[in-house]
Amino acid sequence: MNRRSVVNRFELAREELIQSLRAKGIRDENVLDAIAKVPRQMFVSPLFASRAYEDTALPIDCNQTISQPFTVAMMTQLLKVRKGDKVLEVGTGSGYQAALLATMGARVFTIERYPELMKKAEERFKKLGLKIATRVGDGSVGWSRFAPFDKIMVTAGAPEVPRSLMQQLKDGGIMVIPVGDRKVQTMFLVERRGKEFFTREVDGFRFVPLVGKEGWQD
Ligand code: SAH
Repeated sequence: MNRRSVVNRFELAREELIQSLRAKGIRDENVLDAIAKVPRQMFVSPLFASRAYEDTALPIDCNQTISQPFTVAMMTQLLKVRKGDKVLEVGTGSGYQAALLATMGARVFTIERYPELMKKAEERFKKLGLKIATRVGDGSVGWSRFAPFDKIMVTAGAPEVPRSLMQQLKDGGIMVIPVGDRKVQTMFLVERRGKEFFTREVDGFRFVPLVGKEGWQD
């Protein structure tokens, strides 16, 4: 197969994915636009590239996963990302979510505990010309140097909402974070109004564990 038909095949699959995300309730056109722009096949291992536009989580290195497109789209929609928003992502993984946020015009700060994953994610950001601040470390305590953030997205399941992350949220800011046991989590939407935090539960999703000081013990 020549390169052109491979590109077309991905484009078709991507278009189908976007239609299915619409059908499942994704309404934010900025989210759908970003999904149409970021080549997800670049973020999965070449072994799984042909499945990059299935609405499913896929394995990446270090026994982690790139989240399911619906989950990524829903979390991004809940965050109401606007151009220029300062966004902290905890759990870079493949870098796909961070790439989407940056494509939507957010200033992205992302933390990952595995250096191997971060190295690959950084290579992808560079190839796509995306400026994203990265850090290898424990994101369960946030990134105080660049706090506060307009939005915080945690892409690994936490035992509870880490206090440090709440403190690093701007007044009026929003955080999405899956909270639960190691296997099943509920998506929490936390909104800060001054000193008060309002929490809403969204739905049942499944994530790999957030491991760290204010997460699960290794
Ligand atoms: N957002 C990713 C998918 C994340 S999978 C993507 O778009 O591909 C969750 C990631 O969180 C894993 O890579 C895992 O290593 C990482 N993680 C778990 N606990 C962490 C912590 N305390 N700090 C930073 N990263 C963490």
